[in-house]
Amino acid sequence: FPMELTVWQVTRAGRPHYVAMVRDITERKRLERMKSEFVSTVSHELRTPLTSISGALGLITGGALGELPEQALNMIGIAHNNSQRLTYLINDLLDIEKLAAGKVHFDLQPQSLRPLLEQAIEANLTYCLDRHIRLQLDADPGDIEVKVDHQRLMQLLSNLLSNAIKYSPEQGVVTVSTRVEQTRIRVSITDQGPGIPLEFQSRVFDKFSQADGSDTRTKGGTGLGLAICRELISRMNGTIGFDSQPGHGSCFYFELPLWQQPARRFDTDPADH
Ligand code: ADP
Repeated sequence: FPMELTVWQVTRAGRPHYVAMVRDITERKRLERMKSEFVSTVSHELRTPLTSISGALGLITGGALGELPEQALNMIGIAHNNSQRLTYLINDLLDIEKLAAGKVHFDLQPQSLRPLLEQAIEANLTYCLDRHIRLQLDADPGDIEVKVDHQRLMQLLSNLLSNAIKYSPEQGVVTVSTRVEQTRIRVSITDQGPGIPLEFQSRVFDKFSQADGSDTRTKGGTGLGLAICRELISRMNGTIGFDSQPGHGSCFYFELPLWQQPARRFDTDPADH
């Protein structure tokens, strides 16, 4: 049966003793599974009607019904935006539950890192336009290869880049850089935004956690992006972290093992025989 082992060290008469406790966690696991199935089922059931609501509202705002009074158009615009927000939330919820339950297949293939970074930057450039944010690649990872799932690495990079852009000030600079450290490569995404408040730092990667949890917060988002990133990177054998001085921007980074070419096998020289 699934169990949890806790060990304490106590000192008696100046000598260390160990106390161990084994707990049966079958029931806890069963409840976790039920909760995860419930969330997945509800999300699935919500997604289909929401897709049609969103689609219909999109058509109306796009002019499918001809000219509408300005007030009606405004209201429909608000409804359309919010139905899209709900769609993002449901997609994120489904994603994190599937990832946590190990239901997502990762196709890990050795690939060159640089084109992946360039592709992710390219895909996020449009989000920089309205606030004139500069998105730059600051290091040359050369020919470095990592073993990753292409689509999932893109998702990870896009989550980190879109956060960096979202929290950047007008005309801010977002920099993607790389650094090799022995057998690993670190990819960092640095911004000039507000940074992570100290009291929030220990919860950054938790589900639904947002530094500004108020209804009046100005930045959209689900609070699931970084929780998804943490699952994604761990499935690619990497780690994720951040450095941030509140008021002086944030640097979110992830590390991946460098892909080592398997040692080539040299056939023995027939002359040796
Ligand atoms: P969200 O969808 O709210 O962006 P995330 O999980 O991606 O959710 O991020 C969680 C919270 O971490 C955000 O709401 C924000 O408070 C904080 N955060 C994430 N990235 C940054 C960043 N680059 N700069 C400042 N705060 C950030």
